[in-house]
Amino acid sequence: AAFVGGGFAALSEVLGEFQRAAGAAERLVELLNLNTMIRSRGLPSPQQQGGFHIEFNHVDFAYPSAPDKSVLSDFNLTIRRGETVAVVGPSGAGKSTLFNLLLRWYDVRSGQILIENTPLEHLDVTGWREHCAYVSQEAVVFSGTLGDNVRYGKPQASEADVLQALTDAAAIQFVTRLPEGLNTSVGEKGVRLSGGERQRVSIARAILRNAGLLLLDEATASLDAESERLVQLAIEQSRHGRTTLIIAHRLATVMAADRIVVMNEGQIVEMGTHRELMARQGLYAKLASLQFIDQKAEKHLLA
Ligand code: ADP
Ligand code: MG
Repeated sequence: AAFVGGGFAALSEVLGEFQRAAGAAERLVELLNLNTMIRSRGLPSPQQQGGFHIEFNHVDFAYPSAPDKSVLSDFNLTIRRGETVAVVGPSGAGKSTLFNLLLRWYDVRSGQILIENTPLEHLDVTGWREHCAYVSQEAVVFSGTLGDNVRYGKPQASEADVLQALTDAAAIQFVTRLPEGLNTSVGEKGVRLSGGERQRVSIARAILRNAGLLLLDEATASLDAESERLVQLAIEQSRHGRTTLIIAHRLATVMAADRIVVMNEGQIVEMGTHRELMARQGLYAKLASLQFIDQKAEKHLLA
């Protein structure tokens, strides 16, 4: 299993790997060699052209810590430049793993991921990640001003650009309500933002950096109706000119996507529009009837 270093999550993974490999030095040496090899093969990232064309070709993957447990097997998916794809499926289906692979926190075991027809492993990791924006379920807001938070990744951005990004991310209303606007301290030592507000600030950050690939893991925790509507608006306004992949938990998001991919046990089991998938009366229809919510608790119902 190949592993790519870089970043904090990756470092802790390396340390975890290190400990597990303590009794198996050979395996550790193999891991370090692979890491060096992958880094030195870096090529410049492609130019951004309104998003990226992405292909998963016969991808097989297992996490290094559980090499016998296949997570993706013969996974195939083509995402067109500028497309918005919603990924749905029960907990453990492998949805977040797609993001982990696209961000190269891990490398595929076999098969290939192509970005604009270039194998992902041929791209410089850091350069590639600069084209990607990942908005997690627990979107992170740093201690600092709101402006700093949006500028993270593009520190030289003008105030006008920051405000525009916040507008596009449907976050401008709450910013104008804050006592000091962009200069308001947020995070642990400042004003506490709600989950929906944090996700919108994260989306604003992605818009400002003009990321060509937006990876959004929609919050599972319930947002109030107004936050939900605003996050939805932010998604709709940010998807233009970039490729967007959303791990979707809300019907509104799923329905707004160009295409819906339904995953189960590491494979795509259904694909299409909401209408097409409802007509199939398969896994998608079952998930929809459960509102895509609390998929973990409801997993047994799908068996
Ligand atoms: P989903 O996002 O669809 O809920 P994931 O992609 O997170 O599913 O997980 C797919 C499978 O991989 C699950 O069986 C999960 O337990 C396993 N898995 C996820 N992350 C790791 C990891 N870091 N190490 C080992 N196994 C993992
Ligand atoms: Mg997940």
